[in-house]
Amino acid sequence: MKINKILWLVAALFVVGLSACDSDDKQEVSDQKTAAAEVAKIFNWRMVTTWPPNFPIFQEGVERFAEEVKIMSGGRLNIKVYAGGQLVPPLQAFDAVSQGTVEMGHGAAYYWAGKIPAAQFFTAVPFGMNAQGMNAWFYGGGGLELWREIYKPYNLVPFPMGNTGVQMGGWFNKKIQSIKDLEGLKMRIPGLGGKVLAKAGGTPVLLAGSEIYTALERGTIDATEWVGPFHDLRLGLYRAAKFYYYPGWHEPGTALELIINDKAWQGLPDDLKLIVETAARSASLLMFSEFETKNLTALETLKNQYNVEVYRFPQEVLDALRKLATEALDEEAAKNAEFKKVYEAYNKFRVSNDAWNAISESAYAQALGR
Ligand code: CA
Repeated sequence: MKINKILWLVAALFVVGLSACDSDDKQEVSDQKTAAAEVAKIFNWRMVTTWPPNFPIFQEGVERFAEEVKIMSGGRLNIKVYAGGQLVPPLQAFDAVSQGTVEMGHGAAYYWAGKIPAAQFFTAVPFGMNAQGMNAWFYGGGGLELWREIYKPYNLVPFPMGNTGVQMGGWFNKKIQSIKDLEGLKMRIPGLGGKVLAKAGGTPVLLAGSEIYTALERGTIDATEWVGPFHDLRLGLYRAAKFYYYPGWHEPGTALELIINDKAWQGLPDDLKLIVETAARSASLLMFSEFETKNLTALETLKNQYNVEVYRFPQEVLDALRKLATEALDEEAAKNAEFKKVYEAYNKFRVSNDAWNAISESAYAQALGR
């Protein structure tokens, strides 16, 4: 009996041990299955943009981004890109991604100023930071964290994706010699830049890119800004105006954005998240570099082939516009607490950035006699 009992005990312990091993094995197998299922899962996403089909650099950059994500993910994340109007109208991209109709979008945060006035700081503000400053603010100065906080109530996760660099000041049919020359001027200039023009006595007009040339050519507007030499050349603006002014004080480094629906983003495995983030950073660099190289070539074409007269705004005009820009920003801040919060954070970074710039980029430009 005693031996039997011992044998029973040994057998029981053996069985318990076995089943314990068995359950460990099962756990491991199930973990492997989950990991395998995650790797095998294919995500077919849709992305809407605010750009016209085939719009160089902007829409093309987005399509290259989608292709790179597909290749880097081994076909696990496929993004079908729709240009503005192909799936939803261009300026409904924000709502489409926010509501989860589509997973991704690309545009510029200042398009949503009607909903979120503070969003303008994540694109460009008059006399604000250039592309280098914006990137420093986003990636190292807390700008991106703040942007994510501002977009969170809309179920959106934003990423910087592209920057136009300093834009041009615009096309005019009369010379701008003093701030008085802006009085009564009807100019296509959007957003906060438009508010500054209005303060100078001008009339800002909102027109889509496709409407600009005809309006300028027919005299419906007196002047216009668009992007930079490359896109302005493509629109043929040199045929409708004589004088081309710089710099684009109203858009000194226009950042573009990738927006992702928060729920869709949370559902991505970590490796795919990293692929998306890395591809967006890569697109930022490539798009900005394309703007720089294509603009410098187009500027030569405009000057040498089309005899466009290129002028710098007189310093006195820029000083006056800068003063009006500060007034416009202060007024917006007084109306909206969120705008004020982002304005303060942006300014704090900009002031330090300016101080560093004074002895780095600016000092170097001066050393070259520029
Ligand atoms: Ca512009």
